[in-house]
Amino acid sequence: MKKIIILGSTGSIGSQTLDVVRQHPDKFKIKALAAKKSWQRLVKQAREFKVEAIALLDDEAAFRAQEELHDSEIVVLSGKKGIKTVAGWGDADMVVSAMVGMAGLVPTLRAIERGRDVALANKESLVVGGPVVMEAVEANEVRLLPVDSEHSAVFQCVNGEKLSSMSRLILTASGGPFRTWEAEKLAKASANEALKHPTWEMGAKITIDSATLMNKGFEVLEAHHLFNLKLEQIDVWVHPQSIVHSFVEFCDGSVLAQLGPPDMRTPISYALSYPERLPPQWEKLSLDLMQNLEFEEPRRKDFPCLDLAYAAGRAGGTMPAVLNAANEVAVELFLKEKIAFTDIARVLEKVMEEHNTVTKPDLDDILEADEWGRGRAREVGRACSPGK
Ligand code: NDP
Repeated sequence: MKKIIILGSTGSIGSQTLDVVRQHPDKFKIKALAAKKSWQRLVKQAREFKVEAIALLDDEAAFRAQEELHDSEIVVLSGKKGIKTVAGWGDADMVVSAMVGMAGLVPTLRAIERGRDVALANKESLVVGGPVVMEAVEANEVRLLPVDSEHSAVFQCVNGEKLSSMSRLILTASGGPFRTWEAEKLAKASANEALKHPTWEMGAKITIDSATLMNKGFEVLEAHHLFNLKLEQIDVWVHPQSIVHSFVEFCDGSVLAQLGPPDMRTPISYALSYPERLPPQWEKLSLDLMQNLEFEEPRRKDFPCLDLAYAAGRAGGTMPAVLNAANEVAVELFLKEKIAFTDIARVLEKVMEEHNTVTKPDLDDILEADEWGRGRAREVGRACSPGK
């Protein structure tokens, strides 16, 4: 029985993780859960899975959860400290890191330092603190299992191979809802339009990141750290059907790929049960799904966030943290209709231009760069207005 903690259990990845656990009650036991402020959903999950502890970032939400759970023995914690405590709770075997954004970094590090394997959905942890996280993984001899479908695909393709025999990765991208939109129309794209992802159902932030291609840029950086590859070895191909989850090319020219219907429960289930595989209780690959698979180049000029991520990766140090911080702010401003879709990349570019990179940052340098990036992005964002 694997004992699991889920950080971000009320979100898209978190609830799909619980779906997998629900289907295999003999294999997994949930020990603790954490969320930001969705206390009612968290309380329901806590009761269903009979967990030992929960944490909510929001104090008021934690207070309501505590009141609701007064008749139980479930420990209710709050704030950043509470989330960190839950990340290291008890004697769990694995922590599913599925919070959104940079907020996932410190709890993910806490889980690693407590010697827990981590199933990583929170790609921002690696984008922002790649070297720090990978060093902690090595020092604590834990496994970092990718949940992102592309990285899970790569992980599966390289199973039993030497990482050094990989010559190239081709990460696939759905292209998002604006893949076929003309460049002039993009400036007028609304948040509602951007939130309609063609193949995946995900939280709001990653859905906007998919529309700008920043999500793919982040995945390039994630792969760079996870598989120790140079950025030049990582390519992106747009594949609107999201059936081929990524390709790995080896030094002899052979190419392996991993395929399946777009359902995050497959990579989640693989990360939870690795090295075993569990039978899927959802749609399997069919000949129908394999008709007319398309692949095309990303429109880098119209979706500059992809190249900004490569640039941040090349600059290294604190630059990816600043890129991520500015992106979190810009996405929020776009969702609140304070800036236009095309302003997101403009804000990031400007903030990156102004940043003095710290080359070998420790965690404090990263947190400082994050704070600076957020502040500067808010100022730059204020100077933009929708449609400009
Ligand atoms: P959601 O927005 O659906 O869920 C986010 C979860 O994290 C919620 O439980 C939320 O709680 C919690 N949360 C958010 N901010 C904080 C915080 N500061 N402190 C504590 N908890 C917090 O996101 P997704 O599930 O879509 O994505 C989660 C992560 O997984 C992201 O990093 C994303 O990039 C990655 N990912 C997602 C995929 C997907 O298909 N959804 C695919 C691959 C990767 P609350 O409900 O209270 O707000």
